[in-house]
Amino acid sequence: MALDAKIPDGPLEEKWDRHRFEMKLVNPANKRKYSVIVLGTGLAGASASATLAELGYRVKTFCLQDSPRRAHSIAAQGGINAAKNYQNDGDSVRRLFYDTIKGGDFRSREANVYRLAQLSCNIIDQCVAQGVPFAREYGGHLANRSFGGAQVSRTFYARGQTGQQLLLGAYGALSRQVAAGGVTLFTRREMVELVVEDGRAAGIIARNLVTGELERHAADAVVMATGGYGNVYYLSTNAMSCNVSAAMIAYRKGALFANPCFTQIHPTCIPVHGTWQSKLTLMSESLRNDGRVWVPKKTGDTREPRLIPEADRDYYLERKYPAFGNLVPRDVASRNAKEQCDAGRGVGETGYAVYLDFRDAIERDGEEVIRRKYGNLFSMYQRITDEDPYGTPMRIYPASHYAMGGLWVDYNLMSTIPGLFVLGEANFSDHGANRLGASALMQGLADGYFIIPYTLGGYLADRPFGAHKESSDAFTEAEAAVKARIERLLVPTGRRTCDDIHRELGRIVWEHCGMSRTNEGLEEALSQVEALEAVFRQDLAMVGTADSFNQNLEKAMRVSDFLSFSKVMIADARARQESCGSHYNQAFQTEDHEALRDDAHFTHVAAWRHRGEDEEPERVVEELSFEHVTLSQRSYK
Ligand SMILES: Cc1cc2nc3c(=O)[nH]c(=O)nc-3n(C[C@H](O)[C@H](O)[C@H](O)COP(=O)(O)OP(=O)(O)OC[C@H]3O[C@@H](n4cnc5c(N)ncnc54)[C@H](O)[C@@H]3O)c2cc1C
Repeated sequence: MALDAKIPDGPLEEKWDRHRFEMKLVNPANKRKYSVIVLGTGLAGASASATLAELGYRVKTFCLQDSPRRAHSIAAQGGINAAKNYQNDGDSVRRLFYDTIKGGDFRSREANVYRLAQLSCNIIDQCVAQGVPFAREYGGHLANRSFGGAQVSRTFYARGQTGQQLLLGAYGALSRQVAAGGVTLFTRREMVELVVEDGRAAGIIARNLVTGELERHAADAVVMATGGYGNVYYLSTNAMSCNVSAAMIAYRKGALFANPCFTQIHPTCIPVHGTWQSKLTLMSESLRNDGRVWVPKKTGDTREPRLIPEADRDYYLERKYPAFGNLVPRDVASRNAKEQCDAGRGVGETGYAVYLDFRDAIERDGEEVIRRKYGNLFSMYQRITDEDPYGTPMRIYPASHYAMGGLWVDYNLMSTIPGLFVLGEANFSDHGANRLGASALMQGLADGYFIIPYTLGGYLADRPFGAHKESSDAFTEAEAAVKARIERLLVPTGRRTCDDIHRELGRIVWEHCGMSRTNEGLEEALSQVEALEAVFRQDLAMVGTADSFNQNLEKAMRVSDFLSFSKVMIADARARQESCGSHYNQAFQTEDHEALRDDAHFTHVAAWRHRGEDEEPERVVEELSFEHVTLSQRSYK
């Protein structure tokens, strides 16, 4: 199978503009004849639903939660990037493009990333027009701060609640369309099967999570914006409902899964503090603007941090990476924290934490300034740890946070199933092997507000409307398959709970396919996951019925998908015999222990094709070519 990314011809700067001109349009009077399903109401899904309905398409929007506002995007803290260059500090579309390509360790598509950088400026204008209360300077200009992997300040923010404010903007636009009849909203619904008819996405089977009822929904196209799979690690900064199920359903139906081993481990999270914990909390990367990361120089130094003098502290990021200091990208910061802790210099009860210290910033700017910038994050930290970060350094440690991998999409954001588009964190698109901070919100909103409104039209313009019917055999078969799956899962024979099995899966992948990987560890992980799958099949404790509210069943479906997914993720990690970005295989490192790429053999996207439950998936490659940047060893020194 060959993958065609459908990258338009022409100079990099003009590709998107040309493509928009060359794509066919749907006549305004015909738009209302086409129906579109949008799965998800996070930033990608809500912005897509609102914009498509505004154009005139008939949109049906689905989400798991009781309100679109509860999508995981609400949790985003630190900010959103845009190449506005308000600071006059040397930023430009090209610099944002370059930083993103380099930050992703040269494993993303130039054309997509350039378009993202171009659209970043439109997003800020759109959100300001919606009333998103971005932070402002004294004179009224929008304020910016710095994020990792950049030497300019281009991150727009609303205190530590940027995702919430952006989602309220998108939700407002969505609600307007719900009221106007352009969007029909289905809350508490889970897409449990994708219907493919004549090789095209034709609709979905949704399960009503309150009544258990299965519903058929046909459409002319399906847009998936169902978020990332970071919860494969069980403990992560993601919301509990984040899952890989929608993506795995599409994968089994023919959509390819790209770069599943590229998972972002965020360096600044509140460390794990107990065996029964089910959630980890992020401390935004923005804190590294003012906080200094350090560990005691001596191993086993258990003195209180304030009693450790300067001479006994190692500000290891500032020491090793003087050019970027504490603002090195996440993969680099995470690996360094792990290295310090593994060498016995970690702090706190478990020894798996490093300090993030605001003493110097408070001395320099005053507590009030720090409180204004990060007040809500500090109080969150205090509530969770019962320690006052204004007086005592925060303790932080890396945790699973974001999925760079996702369903493969071409330049139009269409998967390998015609008519199935994938947006936001659910696609693999723009971040290569490592995402820079504040770029996920930018990508989700670029996809939803500015890309899909054009590319969906490009697809539909050639299609008859209403081609798929809920009464068709394809829908009947899809519904029967879901019923059979649910029946298999509901056999109540075992003793292990879904959470118990998920926790064990998380431990396996964290240990062997997390921040640092080895070939032996990956093999071991695969056999452990296979053994765990057998436990899942034979010893799962199930309660409740299919035709009622049953969270046990919801979890069982998701854990079963996480199990299947983890095998693809491990296979991807095994096949990529290099280190790049978040994928750090200990066999491939520089003398300084940095990731060592193998550009001759791995400058490509690896996309996996399902060949049946008991078959090894096929690895399909999309070669990446770089004409506008020079591939180099990533250095932040
Ligand atoms: C704590 C935290 C802080 C972050 N801070 C930042 C930040 O400051 N800046 C930044 O750029 N990025 C940040 N990120 C990343 C960013 O928040 C996410 O990548 C982004 O919000 C994902 O948006 P999305 O629309 O793709 O998916 P989500 O917001 O995850 O939405 C997914 C939607 O899909 C629905 N769904 C899922 N499965 C199904 C199904 N089977 N059927 C129907 N519906 C389904 C859900 O109900 C939900 O509505 C942060 C992430 C975390 C975890």
